[in-house]
Amino acid sequence: MISAVMPTYALADVAFERGEGMYLFATDGRRFLDFGSGIAVVSLGHAHPRLVATLTEQAGKLWHTSNLYHIPAQERLAARLVANSFADSVFFCNSGAEAVECGLKILRRYHDETGHAERYRVITCTNSFHGRTMATLSAAKNEKHMKGFAPLPDGFDQVPLGNLNELRAAITEETAAILIEPVQGEGGIYVPTDDYLKRLRETADEFGLLLMFDEVQTGVGRTGKLFAYEWSGVTPDVMAIAKGLGGGFPIGACLATEKVASTMAPGTHGSTFGGNPLATAVADVVVDEILKPGFLDHVQKMGALLERRLTEMAAAYPKILGDVRGKGLLLGVQCITPAGELVDKLMAKGLLTVPAANNVVRFIPPLIVEESHIDEAMAALEAVCGTIRD
Ligand SMILES: *Cc1c(COP(=O)(O)O)cnc(C)c1O
Repeated sequence: MISAVMPTYALADVAFERGEGMYLFATDGRRFLDFGSGIAVVSLGHAHPRLVATLTEQAGKLWHTSNLYHIPAQERLAARLVANSFADSVFFCNSGAEAVECGLKILRRYHDETGHAERYRVITCTNSFHGRTMATLSAAKNEKHMKGFAPLPDGFDQVPLGNLNELRAAITEETAAILIEPVQGEGGIYVPTDDYLKRLRETADEFGLLLMFDEVQTGVGRTGKLFAYEWSGVTPDVMAIAKGLGGGFPIGACLATEKVASTMAPGTHGSTFGGNPLATAVADVVVDEILKPGFLDHVQKMGALLERRLTEMAAAYPKILGDVRGKGLLLGVQCITPAGELVDKLMAKGLLTVPAANNVVRFIPPLIVEESHIDEAMAALEAVCGTIRD
């Protein structure tokens, strides 16, 4: 018989009842060190005292009003994001896919409003992931995700990540924009070079295209900068963020420059729940914490340490672990043996990690991780690698 919850997920045999900082506690009494963060979401760790206080205080005052009225926390969060990014304006929604969808609409709307309605196509990259809605599936062109859902919306042309010649060759008079993750997450932690990103910006400017970054996974401190694009110095016209933004409370956002966002007049887009008082009160505190002096330095330091330790481990177990890739605390290890097996065995040793496509295991702890947690995680990894080798 079918489960009451629609069976779209392959579930691990565990349920958690409580979280505290870097740790999760299961209903059967087991304790886990969390290097998955609920897929790069729980940026400040579990049950962060200031987030708990903000949420409970706001819950006692006001949850939801709709976007028919001013929402002070939403305006405060938008101003904070604008003050700390390339963007001039922010639209709030509830998830990553919605943030990308909003961006895709903005791309088309901009060209339509500036006399180029024929420019509607978006160039995307191989191994990308942009969400599970019809348009975001069509953008990423992952065969496994698309199967059975045809026909998907038209308007996306895909090129190999890192190949500028092929990208330039794909541009036509109908091209509106280029969409890329500054570090690919779900696809297997592939990192485009800064030079490639710079050339994408130049190419977009040369052909009158817009550049959109999907920072749903990389954004809000994950890579050691508030946004991953800061590493390359390349700024997009439009950017989607979500995962880490609410520290576990569902919220997404689409950021854009004034040039582009000013084409989104009242009535052009909307969301019932997007940016409601509860979500934005929490997210505002998340961003405030991440912008505190020293916080992002800590992420960079822990990211460098974790990357070094993973690289050493890969050198010690070359038949099990390959390349270590990523930026900050968005790290992936290319597996030689099946990644899913490694994730399961690490879990049995009390360490949570997350698989990615192309046989990769992601190490994406909450950004508050300390050296002692990295030691603990590496001890689990070493123990597991030891058993696989035997
Ligand atoms: C997770 C993710 C999405 C989709 O986010 P949802 O909240 O699951 O809709 C989109 N883009 C990237 C890069 C992601 O990592």
